[in-house]
Amino acid sequence: MHKVKTCNTCGKTKPEQQFKKRTRLCKDCRNAKERQHYQENKEVFQAKREANRERRNEISRASYARRIDYERRRSAEYRAKNAEKRKAYQRQRVQDLPDAYVAKVIRRRTGLTTQDVYQYPELIQAYRQYLITKRQIQGYEADQACQRLTTEHDRIIRANRAGRDSSVRSKRIE
Ligand SMILES: [Zn+2]
Repeated sequence: MHKVKTCNTCGKTKPEQQFKKRTRLCKDCRNAKERQHYQENKEVFQAKREANRERRNEISRASYARRIDYERRRSAEYRAKNAEKRKAYQRQRVQDLPDAYVAKVIRRRTGLTTQDVYQYPELIQAYRQYLITKRQIQGYEADQACQRLTTEHDRIIRANRAGRDSSVRSKRIE
């Protein structure tokens, strides 16, 4: 069923797939020869590699740049397509204050690096508490402002009403 060939180097008979096409050299022998060839010409290969270093680096830099463009395009598309979902996610993070979010706020406000921030878990804990407290204060201040506004609003309405009443009264007097 399977075709076989005999290697003219090692003399073993093996299935055809274990030979390079149109040769009588089995893959094991070919690999051994390549290894030997490399060992015997190691300096030449290494010198070639060294000579091509700049070109090789250039190629990998270019490929990296291409990939970066692609990735940026792809994430821009994703952002556009999932704008609502992302907003909801962001709102949730602002609400829940997970470590990653608090760390980001710390980084922005202090210029510390991610590594610095995560080195001190108690810093994250303390900053989270600070944010919660600040929000409570802001909430209290907002409530107070709202209260003042309502009071002022009521006063104006009352004054207006009184004014109208008095003008009505004064007309009656005339
Ligand atoms: Zn062989």
